[in-house]
Amino acid sequence: MINLEVTGKGSGTQARGQEAMLLATNYHIHTHYSPCAASEMRLPAILDAAEEAGYERIGISDHCYSFDLNSYRIRDLRQELQEAAKERKIKVYLGIEAYILRHRLGSITPQIAGLFDYVLVAPNHYHIRGVAQPTRLHPRILGEHELYMFEATINSPITDVVAHPFVLSPRIFRIAPDRLAELARAMMESIDEKRLVGALRTAQSRGIAIELNPKFLRYGQTHLESFYKLCVELKVRLSFGSDAHMLDEIAPDPQIRAFVDSLELTEEHIWSPELAR
Ligand SMILES: [Zn+2]
Ligand SMILES: [Zn+2]
Repeated sequence: MINLEVTGKGSGTQARGQEAMLLATNYHIHTHYSPCAASEMRLPAILDAAEEAGYERIGISDHCYSFDLNSYRIRDLRQELQEAAKERKIKVYLGIEAYILRHRLGSITPQIAGLFDYVLVAPNHYHIRGVAQPTRLHPRILGEHELYMFEATINSPITDVVAHPFVLSPRIFRIAPDRLAELARAMMESIDEKRLVGALRTAQSRGIAIELNPKFLRYGQTHLESFYKLCVELKVRLSFGSDAHMLDEIAPDPQIRAFVDSLELTEEHIWSPELAR
């Protein structure tokens, strides 16, 4: 296991920077309970991979529709997690990935949300029945809709972290990545910046984090770099989440490391489940 605290990860005797601190955590990992995750995503294998990647804290965040969510099931999940994390140095939290259907309607109740250590809420799970859809894939209309869903997520009582905001998934949109990246860039340019800043200020004051999801790089949506920089400028907290569905998606890749290095993060920028609720 690589221990960043001891080795300093290549920085000699220097203390670790906040960049390393953000990437010492990963709060978006699916287990085999999520229907879309690989069957290799069993807790012991996940924890091995996470320790090998040098993480100090991780969170499990299966889709809310993976289980019949009641307090007994959640208690069992927590027990399973504690069992797997026993005698390991890594700290593991029990999260869940919920989603917004429309303004004032989240996919889980605040009561169920309260049984988890934290809740990721996706504003753009358009592949799920009942989620409000953009009426057309025109940049301005899509931008208006994404902003509406983003605001709805920040205003929801269940949200601790906004999962992958403004990252458009080629799988969900069924559009080739390069064409979708072009649409996503035009969409972001059309978004009313005043409203976006207003939503981010609300997130900041409520302690809601924005997920830094490395998939934006994989999808070629590099225009989102300026969105994450805006979050940093407005002192919104960031949560790193790789949205891993298989073991080799758990570790951060060099590209995201380089990007995080370019952000000037302070301790106030780093979100932790300890801050939730
Ligand atoms: Zn998601
Ligand atoms: Zn996910």
